[in-house]
Order: sequence, then C-alpha cells, then structure tokens
Amino acid sequence: MKIPLANRHVLYNMNLFDGQSQGLRTDACVMVEDDRILDVVHGLDAGTQAGFMPVDLQGRTLLPGLIDCHVHLTVPFMTKVTPRAFMDIAAQIKRNAATCIDAGITTVRDAGGFPRRLAELNTAIRNGDLTGPRIIRCNSALTTSRGCPDWVPRFNRVIRAFLGGQYAERVDSPEQASRAAQEMITAGADWIKIYCQHRSWLLGGGDLPVFDRDTFRAIMNTASAAGKKVCCHISWLDDLKLAMAMGVHTYEHSPLEAIPDETAIAFAARDMVLNPTLTCLDLGNDALWETVEGICDERGGTFLEPEPLRQVKAHIYRYRKGPWPPTEGEYRRQPYMNLPLIAGGYANAAANVVRILHAGGRVGVATDSGGLPTAFFGVFYAEELRRLVRLGLSNYQTLKAATSGNAEILGLQDKLGSIRPGRLADLIVVDGNPLNDLDAVLNVRMVMKGGRFLKGAPVHPRLSSLHKPLPQDR
Ligand SMILES: [Zn+2]
Repeated sequence: MKIPLANRHVLYNMNLFDGQSQGLRTDACVMVEDDRILDVVHGLDAGTQAGFMPVDLQGRTLLPGLIDCHVHLTVPFMTKVTPRAFMDIAAQIKRNAATCIDAGITTVRDAGGFPRRLAELNTAIRNGDLTGPRIIRCNSALTTSRGCPDWVPRFNRVIRAFLGGQYAERVDSPEQASRAAQEMITAGADWIKIYCQHRSWLLGGGDLPVFDRDTFRAIMNTASAAGKKVCCHISWLDDLKLAMAMGVHTYEHSPLEAIPDETAIAFAARDMVLNPTLTCLDLGNDALWETVEGICDERGGTFLEPEPLRQVKAHIYRYRKGPWPPTEGEYRRQPYMNLPLIAGGYANAAANVVRILHAGGRVGVATDSGGLPTAFFGVFYAEELRRLVRLGLSNYQTLKAATSGNAEILGLQDKLGSIRPGRLADLIVVDGNPLNDLDAVLNVRMVMKGGRFLKGAPVHPRLSSLHKPLPQDR
C-alpha cells in the first residue's frame, strides 16, 4: 500500500540537535514517514526527497520532543474539591495535556493520578481526539493510611467515582499493597509510584508513617513480576536510604537534607536516577512566587479553567498576603505548606544534584507540573532546565538530559528522545539556538508527534528548486 504524501515529510533548512551529539548539525534534513523518522540525510539531496512533502524550517532548530519525567495531568491544580471544581476538572485535564504540546513536551510520565481519567485521556490522545503528550502512567500512588501525601484526603465513594479513582491508594499490609499495585498494573500502569516521606511538609504535620520493609518489598516484587519499575516520592535522607535499600529505580524530588558522599556513590553505582524537581521545591523563593503570580494575572486563562484559576489565586494570596505563620485553627482547617521548612532545605536539594552527578549518577528533568497549585505545565519545564544549568550543567548536557536522557530513564530510548532513523517522529522546532541560549525552548514554533503536526503545521510548504516535483504534480 502506498503511504499518502501527507504522512511523508522532509524537514530541511535547519540546525539539528539530535538529542545525543554535541553541537548542532547544519547540513542535515530529516525524513519522516508515517509515525517514524525514516532517515537523517546530509545536505539537500533532491533524489532522496522525491515523494516527500518539503518543510522549510527557515534556519530554526529542530530537536527531539521534550520529555518530562514527573507531572500530574489529572490533578487539576486545585486545593479544594468543590462542586464548582467538579465542573472544571475535565476541561482542565484537557488543557493540561494541550499545554504540554504547546510547550514542546511530547512525552510525560504521569507520577500519580486518577486511573480512569488517565485511561480516558490516554485513549483520547492516542486516537487523535485530543491534543496531548504520550503518557507513561503510574495511576494512583501507593502510600500508608496516614502517610504522605497528607494534604490529599481519601475520597468517599461518590467523589471517587467522579474523579476516576483515588489519587493515593492507602494500604497497610504486604497483602493489601501487592493487591493495590496489581490493580494499578491491571488498570494500565507503566510504572508504580510510592510515597516514602518520614516527615511532613505541612504545618503541624510532624512525623509520617511510611511502608515497613515487608510491605515495601511486596510492592517491589509485584511490580518486578509484571516487568514494571518503581518511582518513589522522597523528601528526607531517611526516605532516600529506605527507598535505596528497597531497590527503587527513580527518586522523585531531591532530598532536603544533604546526601553523604558514600550514599551518592552507592546511588550512582546502582544506576539509580534522581528527578530533582528543583523548581517546585523552591517555595521559599520570592521571585518564583512573583513569576507565578504574574502568570496568573496576565495569562492565567491560558493555563487554567475558571475555578482552578480562582483557587490558585487564593492559594497564592494565602501564602503571600496572609499573616505568617497562620494560626493553628487555620492550618487545621486547610493544609498549609510549611514554607520555612521546605525553603530551609532547598540549598541541600540543589547541592544534591551536583553530588549525584559528581558521583557519576543520573539526573532527569522533571517538574511536578500539576502537582502543586503553582506548578504550571511548560513554564516550570523551562525554569527547571535553567536551574540545572545554574548548577553547572552545560546547555548541551541539559538538553540531552531533557531528551535522550529522559527517554533512557523511562526505558524508551529505542523509541524516543533522539533524532535517528527508526525512532518515533516526535520533533519540535524552536527559534534560535538553544545550545547557546536555553530560553530558545520557550519559543516552540512547531510540534510533531508521531509524524503528525500538532502545532505550527506548515500551511504552504515552500517548494524550492532543490526539490523534484512531487508525484501528483507530474
Ligand atoms: Zn509529584
């Protein structure tokens, strides 16, 4: 069967960052057939392009679609599940997915959400009914009855039916834990997500129960039997050590306490991965709050539906304008992040990234977008890249981490993250040269996912004299 021309494109006149090689190639064109990269060829060889729709990128930079290792697509930014919030949830989830694409993020790992909503979203995106990224799913996170996330309630049957499951499944014995892990896998989970945080981030939160070793091991065994890896939310050194002892694969959020050298070395030696999510941990940073506040005021409607926007603004107001510390009555009524506690650990969290890298360990690019009321999709991604550069990574190392590095972390390096023959055609085009100026990734002009243009489709591709006439023109 002949593949229609619409599914054959040759992208040319560009700088190419292939996700792996250092520097940009200026002489390459990329041929896409159906959903795959057919070839990356030198120069503008007219013969190899016959039958392909030419797409002139006008000197911009082509790079692999960006990957975010930690988002929450179905957690709609809200601090309260109210009747008004119910009305906006579906629209907000769609918007979260579309915002990823707009920012050039073509693959995400959803690190915890409502299983039925995630399944529906995933199906709609795969069928082309909705615009959104490829989703690697964890489904509901697993935790203890009274453990972290202590700001998320256990929803009653009615709310649970509406939301499409629990955000966190709370289990307390090895039997319950393996059953819950199996349920997540049956519901389509690609990874299993665990919470392991010994001490709360909330005012008045105190110590939190984590899984005992038998229960933790039961989850690891269930995941492993199904060929799934495990990611674990951690916050403190004890959390990291327990999760390492259990053999967790990726560690979500850099610890707020310094990782000793010997631990960093063991972490690297066992090929474990740290997803630092530095931006979301920097809650003590006035500049970050101002950025988020500015976004809400100027273009909040781009990111948020009416009720989420109202709640995010109220959230910002509580932390920025309200009296600090709030009274015990206030934080008993509604959870309050212990900002000084988290802020006090940020320097450690940042330094830990350097420690892991120096030890030869792997660090991913991850944002926690959607997981906090202030963590916007897209905006936080660019900010996270900048923070990694500030810690000493080059722009090249950072962009490699965001593409082929993250693909490897997710075990998808044979399909995604680099521009090579046979890989899925997840490609983005940005203005300028992101290897010189990382902010170039903020100007995503074109997004192709699986060979289909989802943003900036070429309306009138220029047919230069370099191309043979297209077949139907003959
Ligand atoms: Zn998260």
